[in-house]
Amino acid sequence: MQILRTVGELRCWSRASRSRHGSTIGLVPTMGALHAGHASLIRAARAACSRVAVSLFVNPAQFGPNEDFSRYPRSFEADCALVEQLGADVLFAPSVEGIYPNGQASTFVEVPGLGDRLDGTSRPGHFRGVATVVAKLFIAAEPDRAFFGQKDAAQVAVLRRMVADLRLAVEIVVCPIVRDRDGLAISSRNVFLSPSQRAQALSLSRALRRVESMVAGGERRASILIAAAQEIFAVEPNIRIDYVALVDLSTLLPVETVVPGALFAVAAYVGETRLIDNVILR
Ligand code: AMP
Repeated sequence: MQILRTVGELRCWSRASRSRHGSTIGLVPTMGALHAGHASLIRAARAACSRVAVSLFVNPAQFGPNEDFSRYPRSFEADCALVEQLGADVLFAPSVEGIYPNGQASTFVEVPGLGDRLDGTSRPGHFRGVATVVAKLFIAAEPDRAFFGQKDAAQVAVLRRMVADLRLAVEIVVCPIVRDRDGLAISSRNVFLSPSQRAQALSLSRALRRVESMVAGGERRASILIAAAQEIFAVEPNIRIDYVALVDLSTLLPVETVVPGALFAVAAYVGETRLIDNVILR
């Protein structure tokens, strides 16, 4: 596995791969601190593409001023070992200046509307930062397919819109949420949870399971489903809800009743740690 540090190197690799091997190129964008969720994306890329690049970049542009950019977990050596073990061809790990020549973003890709919904409401500018860095990665790597997790459902909606609007020739592939055995969605931020917070964090997946079983039992009304999920959080004194919402999967706008493909999404702070989870209601 090659470790590439600059956009130029990534571009050369991509072009050489395509011209020498006629390869399909898969890209897996990550912020590192890799875990089983990321591994599932890399495996999916490996299965679907002849050449695979994993990017590892803690993107300052997607963090707000009071968010956890500086303490975001970083584990470069372990990440390299995992990416290599999973058979990726390239790990792209640029510096901040390599991505943002002025030290910070000065040209942005923005998806107004969508980018202000769900996480975009409580994290203003977050999706602008995400869209900007992912566009830069797409321009450099020119992937045929890029792999993202359903866990970040709003991110997927924003990026799908970006790709459609910019007419980019990349297919967005969405992989299922990987969970710990007890149901907690795996996240790089789970390392911030104390044992008791981790137990409280199970409320997120518990709320989603309750909603799913109510829908299986015939309930369709958003208000009732949202109230049921909120009840589960209400008994946890150390959990602060950010949002509990039933939305259309592609517009992220609220829907009043469950329609096929509606997204039930939750975000909550457990102590200082913000966690997200969701389920697509079929
Ligand atoms: P991150 O490093 O947190 O920016 O995540 C990089 C990619 O991994 C994103 O597309 C995430 O949606 C995806 N991802 C993170 N956690 C999970 C998970 N538990 N299951 C599946 N995909 C995940």
